[in-house]
This record gives sequence, C-alpha cells and structure tokens, in this order.
Amino acid sequence: MMPRSVLSRCALLAQQVPLECALSSTRGMSSITIPPPACMLRPLETPFRYLFGPGPSNVPPRILAAGGRPIIGHMHSEMFGIMDDIKKGIQYAFQTNNNMTLAMSGSGHTAMECAVFNIVEPGENVLVAVNGIWGERVAEIAERMGAKVHSLNKAPGGHFTNAEIEQALSKHKPVLFFLTHGESSSGLVHPVDGVGDLCHKYNCLLLVDSVASLGAAPLLMDQQKIDILYTGSQKALNAPPGTAPISFSERACHKMFNRKTKPVSYLLDMTHLSNYWGNDGKPNRIYHHTGPVSGFFALRESLAILAETGLENSWRHHKEVAQYFWKGLEDLGLKLFIKDEDLRLPSVTTIAIPEGYNWKEMLTYIMKHHQMEFTGGLGPSVGMVMRIGLMGYNCNKANAAMALAALEDALKNCRKTKS
Ligand code: PMP
Repeated sequence: MMPRSVLSRCALLAQQVPLECALSSTRGMSSITIPPPACMLRPLETPFRYLFGPGPSNVPPRILAAGGRPIIGHMHSEMFGIMDDIKKGIQYAFQTNNNMTLAMSGSGHTAMECAVFNIVEPGENVLVAVNGIWGERVAEIAERMGAKVHSLNKAPGGHFTNAEIEQALSKHKPVLFFLTHGESSSGLVHPVDGVGDLCHKYNCLLLVDSVASLGAAPLLMDQQKIDILYTGSQKALNAPPGTAPISFSERACHKMFNRKTKPVSYLLDMTHLSNYWGNDGKPNRIYHHTGPVSGFFALRESLAILAETGLENSWRHHKEVAQYFWKGLEDLGLKLFIKDEDLRLPSVTTIAIPEGYNWKEMLTYIMKHHQMEFTGGLGPSVGMVMRIGLMGYNCNKANAAMALAALEDALKNCRKTKS
C-alpha cells in the first residue's frame, strides 16, 4: 500500500493545488528547496530543420517510428534477437564476416575510444594519420590512455600516399594505425586500398573511421583488410545519434583478448561487450550495462533500409547526387575545397569560403531564412570551409537544389566585407 504522505501528495496534485501549498502542508516530510523549473512545466518544443550539415541528418518517419515503439527489457530474448539482427546488418554494411561485430551504446566517439582502449596497452606505439580533426581526436584518446603516439600530418584536405604510410610504419613500429575514411571536417574520402596489407606487413592493426562515409562511399572491411572499423548511427544511416556500429577482425580479437593489462574503461571493455552481444560463444549473456533499447530499434530499422536499398545502389546514389550538387556549386561561382573529384566525400561537401564573405553570417542567414543547417569547418578546418551534408534520406536532387537556392540567396544578400 502507498504511504499516507505519498497518497495525500497525489491527491493534492490531482486537485492541482499549487505546489507551494502542497509543500507547506507536508512540511517536515519534504526538505526540497529548489522548485520545479518553469521550463519543465512547459511542453517540449522542437523546430523543424533541414539537417544539411555533417550530421545528424534528418531521420525518416520509418526509423522514427521504430525508435518510438514501446521498449522491452535490454535482456529479453526478443531484444537479443534484435541485437543479432543488428549484428547481421552491420556485417552487411561493413562487408565483413567478423563474428566480433556489434553496436556501441554511445556516439561515434564511444566506438573510437572502444577501439583504442581495447587494442592498445599503455606504452605501446600508435600511429595516427592526422589530416583533420578526427586524427587529432584519436591521437588525444591514445595519449590519454598512455600510448606513445606518433602522427603523420597533412593540412586539412591532404591525404597520405601508401609510400608515406609505409615509411611511418617501418619507423615507428606501431601496434595500431588510424586512418579516417570519410574526413568530415575537410570533405575528403581517403584511399584505403593496400593500407591493410602494409599494416599487416609491419605487424600492425588497421583502424578506420567510417562515421561520415558508411553507406555513402565504397568501403569493404574484409577485402581491404581493415582490422577495426566503426561508424555512427546519425549520418548516412539516418538513425538518431547515440549508437555506433563497430567490428573487429580475428587479428584484432587476438590482440585485445591477450592483453597483460585490463582496458582503462569498464563500460567499453570488449570482454564484457562481446558477451552482452552474444559474440563470445558462452551460453549465457550476462548483464553488463543497460543498452539504449530505443536506439537499437532505430538502428535496426536503418540497417534494414540499407539492406533493402543495397550498398552499391546507396554508394551510386550518393555519388550521383553529390556530382549534381558539386556542378551546381561551381555554377554559382563557388570553389570546392577538395579539388580532385575522386577524393571528394560524397556525403559531406566542403566549399572554400567565398572571398569577401563572412561564413558565419552566411550560415546564420541560411538558418534564419531557409531553416537549413549548414556548418562551418571543424578543428583545423575552421575558417577554411563551409560544410554541407546530403546523406541517406536527405540525399536527393530536390534537397541539393534547395541547398543551392539557399546558397544563391545568401550570396546575394549577405553583406560583403570591406576587405
Ligand atoms: N568521426 C567522424 C568522421 C565524424 O564525422 C564524427 C562526427 N561528426 C565522429 C567521428 C564523431 O562521432 P560522434 O559525434 O557521433 O561522437
């Protein structure tokens, strides 16, 4: 039975008695001094925005509906069935047969940390290709957990040749080499062919970030000999942010399950996560953490859409729409930041800031008058580029034309700076 104090409070609330009176009448039973914030007594409001930045992208109704289903327990057999489906969906999206395939409970950064924390032990050498913010981030993550970090550096938009990579591998003898496939801060899609073989020649594992490129640009985990690959839910997959697919090759599993030290993070420890995802061959899955049930429903639906569409169709479609968009940008007199079309990321286009314009003013104008999110640069590309993402559900010529019209309008109406 409910205690009397709770009953009387419920009765007061039901009669809509002002909270102050309710509190004073229950003085002695309650010691709260902070009243409910006024904002919490107003309904949630969310504007509609065209999310044409580098992510998140708009979520189609089908995926929103999947995420809005009544939740079930994170350890229910049906949930495990859904997680098994997600694993198969990721294996398809990554083109891998890796058993150690799962989705992290968390954003892309969770997958980055999971990869580094589980593979690397303190004092080991890590080599990071830094040509934008994502290399910088992974270098910092590795440094924080005590790795010896070496970096290969290029300005945003630059890429590394296999000869440069080989030279650095032979010099630093790292246990792990990190490369960003879709460098969303600069708009570059990095070549991956041959890099896996080079890494293996030097007894190194290859870690690739495909957060911004998965589903939009060709990537074949097993064929390209990538040892650890991760992505995010909120870009071309079009699920809400908050889950992050990741997969580990057998070589990667061998390294991470034969460590001398435990990984620094309990939450991201793959020994536990592999059991939670039913990947460790043990008969029982044991509670480790409460996975984001709604996020997994949505992720499953987004992977189902990719499977129905077909990976190759999705790659082709992103490229076609991107080419239409790039041509339109050039017709407006804008310059693409990545000159070589083959190195342009189809999902996130970077435009060099047009001379004489203030990029912040343009972005604010476009948001105000067109309800469209484009963004500026990120990390080392700030002040160099504006970024426009047309991914998954958002990727079509009608949206590209709308984005071009918004840019044309901003170019006409945003005051030119005097310089
Ligand atoms: N890598 C790349 C290439 C990204 O574009 C992003 C997100 N913009 C991340 C990693 C980090 O993902 P998240 O914001 O989901 O943590």
